[in-house]
Amino acid sequence: METDFDYVIVGAGCGGLSLAVHMLEAGVRRRVLIVDPRTSFPNDRTWCFYDVTDHPFADAVTHQWRRWRVVDDEREVVRGSLRFAYQHLASADFYAAALDRIRGAETCELRLGCRVGQVIDHGSHVVVSTDVGPVTARLVFDSRPSEARVFPADSAETREVNLLQHFVGWTVETKDPFFDPDTATLMDFRTSQRGGIHFTYTLPFSSRRALVEDTHFSGHRLEAKQYEANLRRHLDEAGAGDFVITHTERGAIPMTTAVFEQRPSPRVYRIGVAGGLARPATGYAFLAIQRFSKALAEMLASASPDAAPQPPAPRSQRTTLLDRCFLSHLDQHPAEAPAIFTRLFDRVPPEALIPFLSETGSFADEFHVMRSLPTLPFAQSMLRALHGLVRRRGLSDMSNLSHLSDLLDDLPPRAQP
Ligand SMILES: Cc1cc2nc3c(=O)[nH]c(=O)nc-3n(C[C@H](O)[C@H](O)[C@H](O)COP(=O)(O)OP(=O)(O)OC[C@H]3O[C@@H](n4cnc5c(N)ncnc54)[C@H](O)[C@@H]3O)c2cc1C
Repeated sequence: METDFDYVIVGAGCGGLSLAVHMLEAGVRRRVLIVDPRTSFPNDRTWCFYDVTDHPFADAVTHQWRRWRVVDDEREVVRGSLRFAYQHLASADFYAAALDRIRGAETCELRLGCRVGQVIDHGSHVVVSTDVGPVTARLVFDSRPSEARVFPADSAETREVNLLQHFVGWTVETKDPFFDPDTATLMDFRTSQRGGIHFTYTLPFSSRRALVEDTHFSGHRLEAKQYEANLRRHLDEAGAGDFVITHTERGAIPMTTAVFEQRPSPRVYRIGVAGGLARPATGYAFLAIQRFSKALAEMLASASPDAAPQPPAPRSQRTTLLDRCFLSHLDQHPAEAPAIFTRLFDRVPPEALIPFLSETGSFADEFHVMRSLPTLPFAQSMLRALHGLVRRRGLSDMSNLSHLSDLLDDLPPRAQP
């Protein structure tokens, strides 16, 4: 059937724009429409990631750190790497680079100020309702925030963990030099842990300017004034002196073991965070979005125009299992988080830890990480994670996995890390 467009991308955020750019890079010469209600692309978020994966936005990176630290009440762990840098990409620069590429392509049309409603798969084509009328397409890639999970979040049977990484960040300018511009603080746990896992994250752009974020891993967001009070207290206690706030950003990213509905119907794909690309154990999504977009674009480039290829999996089975184990453990024992994270950064060399955190680790890197964690409690969490996966996939009758319940019952009580 003749359609208005080959592909419609719903949402011009990180997932939507990345897919459009990767399609152009891969030589996909199809008619693409990108629709978003937004009319501007402000600097609404900061993306950070390690430089482990090539992507088309590398030239827009503005800062990088080769040294980082994690701090709790007991100790400060400072690590660095000549091989890997922790990089910063401001969203305004990402949007500008992506829009520049897309607007220069005659196959792409960007429709801003336009909201998508229903997306209905009719088998041979998809009808996308927008507030200026319907459009038809062969395939739709939808990045709108979605609560859809294959395994429902409220199912006690599947025991899914549903945390949020929620935060407010201030870019501050201090009157006097205060920050160490060479060292990013990934987690500073010297703050109250009463409401769940809580730390401060600091990206120093110079000795007087930094992004400082009050970050929580817990079930619910806080009121704005609570994050702000925490930020003010942190800066006061650290001795930052007088400062002005030049920019504020806020966010909430899912950290969940539930499986996202990646393809609600054969011609409709969810992409971005809605497609499960935020890593359950860390909330990081930028590099996963780049890898997913590249793989999907290459599939589309080599498929016939009418084909609907199977999308790439968000992550490997092994990473899924490790994240399930790690997140379940943190959920059950949040008070242990400061010790676990400092131990991880202390004991695992950056050359193994960074690929692991960036989802590009080898089996040896993952083994290194597992070995650094308290053995018995994590062995129990690992077995529970395996058990959860088995139950959730309805495989509990498989003979090679059915002994897990017995193993769990036989394990001794949990020891402290
Ligand atoms: C403040 C913040 C900081 C982050 N920092 C990092 C980081 O440092 N590193 C990292 O790896 N990840 C980070 N993340 C996580 C992740 O990378 C981002 O959330 C990323 O923007 C996800 O891309 P997305 O396309 O899924 O969502 P978005 O970028 O939010 O895009 C979704 C788009 O859908 C559009 N939309 C909504 N409703 C409709 C509709 N009805 N019709 C059409 N379009 C619609 C929205 O306007 C938006 O443009 C951060 C997230 C936030 C919020």
